[in-house]
Amino acid sequence: MYYATAGISELEIPNNKSLVIYISECQNKCVDCHTPFLHNKYGEILKDNFSDIFELFYNYFDVLCIMGEGKGRYKEKQEIQYYCEYAHKHNKKFALYSGRDCNIEDWMKDFDYIKIGSYKKEYGSLSSNTTNQILYKKDKDEFVNITRLFWNNKP
Ligand code: SF4
Repeated sequence: MYYATAGISELEIPNNKSLVIYISECQNKCVDCHTPFLHNKYGEILKDNFSDIFELFYNYFDVLCIMGEGKGRYKEKQEIQYYCEYAHKHNKKFALYSGRDCNIEDWMKDFDYIKIGSYKKEYGSLSSNTTNQILYKKDKDEFVNITRLFWNNKP
């Protein structure tokens, strides 16, 4: 997978700092996409730089957050699972921000947080209480919808 950029953010996972890595070649084609440059092959090969990025930011985040699924094929899913295992081995949590309208799938079952749902301007993003998007948090073996935490954080 290719990634466009990486950095620390407190916005993606409530009450946690995330190392967010933006994956390019997004196949979702949300009509009102706010990052259209991520539709194309853009940036560098993540596998080549992943461990360096992880190490560089290690002291500054709780959750590794992969933003997007790239081309979304079996091999991209395997790569994302590898990053999840890597995060867990190094005592970090793992989040996937999928922009697909899907349910939680089997291959995602080890992730700590999963965001699903395409971006629809009329419903708004996660911070809108009319959003179609959902953020799930794993609690033991269940995924719990915690989207409303974004609404409570509103000023
Ligand atoms: S998931 Fe939707 S909003 Fe996000 S980059 Fe892809 S097309 Fe754009």
